[in-house]
Amino acid sequence: MPTKTLTCALAIVLMGAAQADAAPACSNSGSFEKWLDGFKKDAVTAGVKPATVASTLDGMTADMSIISSDRKQGFFSQTFLDFQTKLATPNRVQSGIAKVKQQRAVFDREEKDYGVSPAVIAAFWALESDFGSGMGKKPVLRSLATLAYDCRRGEMFRQELIAALKIIDRGDLRADEMIGSWAGELGQTQFLPAHYYNFAVDYDGDGKRDLLRSNPDIIASTANFIKSLGWKAGEPWLQEVRVPAQMAWENAGLDMKLSRAEWVKMGVTGANGQKLPADTTPASLLLLMGKNGPAFLAYPNFEVFTKWNQSLNYAVTAAYLATRINGAPAMNRGSPVASLDGPQMVEMQQLLARKGYKIGEADGKLGAGTRLAIRQAQLKAGLPADGYPTQEFLTALRSGR
Ligand code: CA
Repeated sequence: MPTKTLTCALAIVLMGAAQADAAPACSNSGSFEKWLDGFKKDAVTAGVKPATVASTLDGMTADMSIISSDRKQGFFSQTFLDFQTKLATPNRVQSGIAKVKQQRAVFDREEKDYGVSPAVIAAFWALESDFGSGMGKKPVLRSLATLAYDCRRGEMFRQELIAALKIIDRGDLRADEMIGSWAGELGQTQFLPAHYYNFAVDYDGDGKRDLLRSNPDIIASTANFIKSLGWKAGEPWLQEVRVPAQMAWENAGLDMKLSRAEWVKMGVTGANGQKLPADTTPASLLLLMGKNGPAFLAYPNFEVFTKWNQSLNYAVTAAYLATRINGAPAMNRGSPVASLDGPQMVEMQQLLARKGYKIGEADGKLGAGTRLAIRQAQLKAGLPADGYPTQEFLTALRSGR
């Protein structure tokens, strides 16, 4: 699996599972016991030691509460400002700064080996587990076996369970130490087992890759994973900016990449009005709360954040927290107008779909497709095309504009 498709348990709880994959109706036939018998044979075929299979899986039962956590359908997305206020807290900024300082020698070594900014590692570390204080409470093998048995994403979790068993075989962790999130994520930066198996690094030289307890292992493993997602050393990831009162708002959005010189020409400046370098660096303008809300330029390294977690609110929050740990001041929250509530969001999506826009499922969530459709419909209605759904926009849609 190239990317982390599940968010940390904390973010799922905070978002009301808003980003869980759309669940196609499926039902489980056959007993868990029968499934487990088959899986045990496959695990041995895949190279797991028979003794490990027997000692960890014999007599295991399914945990049906895991399936209901996974099936829980999201309510509605929170706004970016609400989301980031809950997650990118001043406390996490401070503890991130302190962690970078406390682990300075390891981070220096990591920067030479992997080139990932310490602030970025610290931001994920803070968001995923508050530096180890919340790594989840569920036995990971049982969660993974339950999700692998379940029809919804069985194949993916089958691979994760095999990876978890191989971590035990390798001697990194014992089965009873594997306590994590209900979705099977492990360690202080909440790695899925396949990522743990493929990217974890023994950086303190004790012979084990220990993402539960070892600061050096956690730092280097997270850096190694971030590098694998395409991180480019020494480049920025996100920068707060200021937008002019008027501009061609339809240029905003993660799918639009213009050179920084073009943004400068349109009147985009640094957060305090300072001039940005008019160079060829590609950047997307993000206006998650519309033209009157906070504004950011997202640079190529920002892609790492959207690969870590596909929720744009999570990605911008993590990237912003990293800039704060790196010394940036708190963002200007602007004065965004109120967004639509959940039912209004669904109504807007239904109206957009009726007009022929491809918005996917009318689920009340502001995904990439919905944002693009809003921009196009705003242009047609003669409204500022910033991709942010307002009451004014819904009124225009209702009246057929
Ligand atoms: Ca180690």
